[in-house]
Amino acid sequence: MLKNRRYLILLLIALVTIISSTGSNSYPKLNADPWESTTITVYIDENNLPEHYSPSYKIQVEKALEYWNDGGNGQLSYIPVLELVEEDNADILIMWVDNLESDNGLDDGVAGFARPYEINDRYERVDIVLEVGNYEGYAWRQFSDKTMRDLTKHELGHALGLAHSDDKNDIMYPSYEQKNNVDPLLYHNTRPFLIAIAIIASVLILYRGAGWVRSKKKREALEREIFSKQEK
Ligand SMILES: [Zn+2]
Repeated sequence: MLKNRRYLILLLIALVTIISSTGSNSYPKLNADPWESTTITVYIDENNLPEHYSPSYKIQVEKALEYWNDGGNGQLSYIPVLELVEEDNADILIMWVDNLESDNGLDDGVAGFARPYEINDRYERVDIVLEVGNYEGYAWRQFSDKTMRDLTKHELGHALGLAHSDDKNDIMYPSYEQKNNVDPLLYHNTRPFLIAIAIIASVLILYRGAGWVRSKKKREALEREIFSKQEK
């Protein structure tokens, strides 16, 4: 019985490994080639700035654009030319809010998100929303320029088609500020893993359930034996 259970657990581990490693030979991507042209225009919304906005944040966005134009984390299969423009019909729109939890009703810990609008496997445009600080308990904590720069680099990485990395040193690793990142495509990407967990959970429940039925049958048989003896 114990041996059987061991085999079952080994089988489940193998199943998870297979499912979660599907396509992981290459870097995790939401879309390997999302943009029609390598010149990608970026518009920064300076008309709707939140109360706690710092003017130094725009410089951090410019640095984040440079980062990707210079090759970024080296995981893109194309070299983008991210270009700041004045028209708001740009490919990527960047805007700020004071707090995503209170302003957009998002979960705690979300510091930014990138929402791509996809048509025929190409990005039509991407909205990036960044918050300028967070609550720690009841205390407001304003994001430093470095945090803003890293956050923008991370969200731009999504806008360029990259998904999350497991490597803590990679800009696409969902760090403390981005741990509950809610971009919808990301959910899509982790779905095989979630499905694997659901399968395992139901198998374990069924297995334990079956064990319970077996022990119930044994007990009933034992009871029958005892009672029939008593009757004698
Ligand atoms: Zn993310």
